[in-house]
Amino acid sequence: MNFIREVKQRADIVRVAEYYGMKLNRAYKCICPFHKEKTASLSISPQKQIWKCFGCGKGGDVISLVSDLLNINALEAAKSINNTLGLGLNAEKPSSYLEINKYKQKRKTEEMFKKWTLQTFILLTDYLHILWNWEKIANFDDERFVEALQQKEKTQYFIDIFIEGTIEDKIWFWKCEKKVVKRIESRIRTFRATGE
Ligand SMILES: [Zn+2]
Repeated sequence: MNFIREVKQRADIVRVAEYYGMKLNRAYKCICPFHKEKTASLSISPQKQIWKCFGCGKGGDVISLVSDLLNINALEAAKSINNTLGLGLNAEKPSSYLEINKYKQKRKTEEMFKKWTLQTFILLTDYLHILWNWEKIANFDDERFVEALQQKEKTQYFIDIFIEGTIEDKIWFWKCEKKVVKRIESRIRTFRATGE
């Protein structure tokens, strides 16, 4: 694959914009560096990996962003991004298909892991809320109350892994606590179906 195209495929435009000093707000907007203005009218789309200024009309992809910012050509911009982000690509030697496929597979795994993290976090917090409600029953003969007492702290501990834990902590959870996730899933399903 062509060097410029490969840089474009690998470099996330949001990260690039931030690396090159653009201060994006939560909606991925910022003051346009290409014309004078006081309110942010330059907008970045992480989904489409493009940028557009609604004030001056400039826009394009990650390569044109850096080439416009630094006033250099596309190849120089690609080289600059490659260095800044540490993509490790070689401008002289194009990557083999094997390397590209390996990279795509890695990206796919990362996406799946991200999705799993979010789903599991939601599952655990849902379960904790249910446990809190069960705790209010305050009747030792009630199985739900007992479950609340037994599971509450552990569930909170798991949630903390997802809030404060490192990526290694989450991978550990993913590897070792599959049974816990299965149990909670089926517990919540029963709860939603019967209210118990
Ligand atoms: Zn502008």
